[in-house]
Order: sequence, then structure tokens, then C-alpha cells
Amino acid sequence: MKVFKFGGASVKDVAGVKNLSSIVHQQHGQLIVVVSAMGKTTNLLETLCNAYFHQDAKSTTIMKELKNFHLDIVNNLFPLNSPVYKHLEELFTGLENILASESSLCYDYEYDRIICFGELISTTIISDYLKMEGIDNQFIDIRKFLKTDQNYRNANIDLELSEHLCRNAFDFNTSSIFVTQGFIAGTRTNQTTTLGREGSDYTAALLANLLNAEDVTIWKDVPGVMNADPKEYEKAQVISRMSYKEAIELSHFGAKIIHPKTIKPIQNKQIPLYVRSFLHPDSRGTVIQEIDEHLKLPPIYINKGNQCLLTLTPRDFSFIAEEKLSHIFAVLAQYKLKLNLMQNSAISFSFCVDCNSAVFNEFLDQLREEFEVRYNQDVKLITIRHYNEEIIREIIGDTPSLVEQRSRTTAQFVLRNHVLQ
Ligand code: ASP
Ligand code: MG
Repeated sequence: MKVFKFGGASVKDVAGVKNLSSIVHQQHGQLIVVVSAMGKTTNLLETLCNAYFHQDAKSTTIMKELKNFHLDIVNNLFPLNSPVYKHLEELFTGLENILASESSLCYDYEYDRIICFGELISTTIISDYLKMEGIDNQFIDIRKFLKTDQNYRNANIDLELSEHLCRNAFDFNTSSIFVTQGFIAGTRTNQTTTLGREGSDYTAALLANLLNAEDVTIWKDVPGVMNADPKEYEKAQVISRMSYKEAIELSHFGAKIIHPKTIKPIQNKQIPLYVRSFLHPDSRGTVIQEIDEHLKLPPIYINKGNQCLLTLTPRDFSFIAEEKLSHIFAVLAQYKLKLNLMQNSAISFSFCVDCNSAVFNEFLDQLREEFEVRYNQDVKLITIRHYNEEIIREIIGDTPSLVEQRSRTTAQFVLRNHVLQ
């Protein structure tokens, strides 16, 4: 059995759905198709959720936009008497009923029960379209089988229970193709949860792990994992093979190609992960797998934006020692800020975190109780894996860095305004 994952960009329009169908058609054997919400639907649903939660009348207009976007696609794919219209109507009514009811006080709970409609709608359209094209498949509402705790918006999977439920649900004696949603899941008591933005890759990896898939393919709008973002670096090239370890490091440093949680489930079962282009389904793309031999990789360049660089100095001139550091880490954990680089001296500690404007001022106030705080907002963190002096010269040039750090494999630079040389 194989798992294919199609992201929002791959099914953003009529041509995308047709293309998915042709890729699935060329595949023989057992298959699970995991799909994200179409195009930018999840962003639109976020605005809908905010409007609903804050009782803003805009929700009616946003709901209309959501319907029109999907109906436009559907009208160009199906004849008028297709069952897809009834299936979609049920979903739209379900969402409208939520919007007409009073919200609870828990934003995250409301978020998950609204945001899931993106994936429910896309998979309904895709399952019905494949059927119309003669590709028999079974639609699965994954919320019933992938079970999580109640940590809404970033739920944690109950692997044991999910394994049992998924093995029964994905019964390949009844169908050889299943279509299901990425990103969403459910609690034991059937409340909807989600796995974090862009979490569909993670769903694909989880299902592969639980059901012992042969391999997973993530279909993207790029030709594979590249050694730089081709929009930023014209000499970017595809890396044809890479280890799990390299892939997990790259996503940690900010490469957007795969969701960071994706690698562990497939590594644990030694399942290869392919990253391939849905625009050129015949090219091979990248395979991520266990690689024993020392594989020489080209320099890989990652630009992580929206960073904040902070430098803390204890007000009483005491050393930055273990207790001070553990206090700083506790504050970071409290505000769920991701630490991306750190450096200390006798009486100062500098670090780079993802900027989260919603909590930043409160975070600063808390630190200021003990430290003098200096910071630069909106800096960039440039990471170069497998670096050499030539590539550093090419990427960084004379741009002065605020902090610089090198290990044997990785060089990192915090820059104010990064301009390619
Ligand atoms: N639709 C969700 C999002 O946009 C999940 C995903 O695309 O992986 O975040
Ligand atoms: Mg998406």
C-alpha cells in the first residue's frame, strides 16, 4: 500500500483536480490519497472563524466566498445531476449551523470545528470526481479514526487507539483506494481537532506508519527537495537522495518543503518518502530514506524570515549561568516561542526566536523583570548546511551579521536586511 499526499496548491482549481485524478489513475495497487483544503481555503476559514468568534457580520460574506470558490470548481467538473451537489450542500449547511449558533468561550475549539471544513469539502469533491472518472474509491472521515487529545489546534495523536481504528477503517478488502483528509483528527468523544497548520504531510506520515505503507509521496509544486528556494536563488537544484536525519534538520532550520513532524513516523518504520512535482509527475524528485553511506550533499541554503533577535543582560551583573538559562527557557516555553539560535557570554545571552506579535510584549515584560533586554525585530536567520567559504561569500557577501555561528556542518547568520549578492 502507498500513501499519496496532495497539498492545497495541487488542488487549487479545476486543472488541479483533473491532474490529481490522472496521477491516481496511473497508479496501480492499494492507495490512500490524503488531501488538504483547496488553494487558500484554510486562510479563508481562519478569517471566517475570527468573524464568528468576535460576532462580526462579515462572516456571511466570507461564507459566500467560500461557497462560490468551491462551486465554481465543481460546476466545471461535474454535470448538474451529480451527487456531489447534495454532498456539498450537507457540508455547507453543517458549517452554517455552527455559524448560526452561539460560540463557546474556547477559541481553539471553535477554530478546529470550523477549519476542518476545508479538508471535508476538498475530499468530498475529489472522491466524487474520481468516482465519476471510473476510479472506484472509499471516502473516509478521518476524524473518526485518527484520535488525539484535546489540545485543540495542535493535538497529539493517540497512536495505539488510532492504529486499531485505522486498521479496521482502511480495509483493503473492501476498496483499493481510499480518499481522506490531512490535517484534521478527532478526540475520543468525537470533537474535531487539528494537527497544526500545514499538517497534512504529518497525517500522510502517520497513516503510513500505522498501516505499514510501502512508501509515501508528497506531490508538490516544486520538482523535489531543493538546496535553496528557487524563487530566491536561481541556481537552486533538486537533491535526489537525502537521509531522514538531513530532512529533519532542514525542516528544523526553516526549509518549508515538509512539515517538521513528518519525518519521525516514517523514519520509525523505515518508510521511504518521495517528494515529487505534480506538474511533472514523470520526473523522479527526491527520495528521503535511511542512508548508511556518507552521502555528499551540495550546500543547502535556508532563509528563515520573521525572526527576532534578543540579547539579555542580568540587571545585577551576575553571570548567565544554569539557573538564569533555565529561567529564560521556562519563559520561552510559557509563550511557546521557538528558539532557533542561541549564544552566550559571561553576562549576556543572545537568541533568535520566531516573532509572534500576539505575545511579544508580554514576553518582553516578563524578561525585563530580571534582565536588561535589547532586541531587533524582523531579522532573518540564514542557515547554510554543508557550507564552504565560497558559498558563504556568495550568499552573505559583505552584509554585516548581528550574530554568526558555525558547527562542522552548519553555518548560521542573523542578518538585518538580507540582500542576495
Ligand atoms: N489546509 C491546512 C493548512 O493550510 C493543512 C495543510 O495544508 O497541510 O494549513
Ligand atoms: Mg494548505
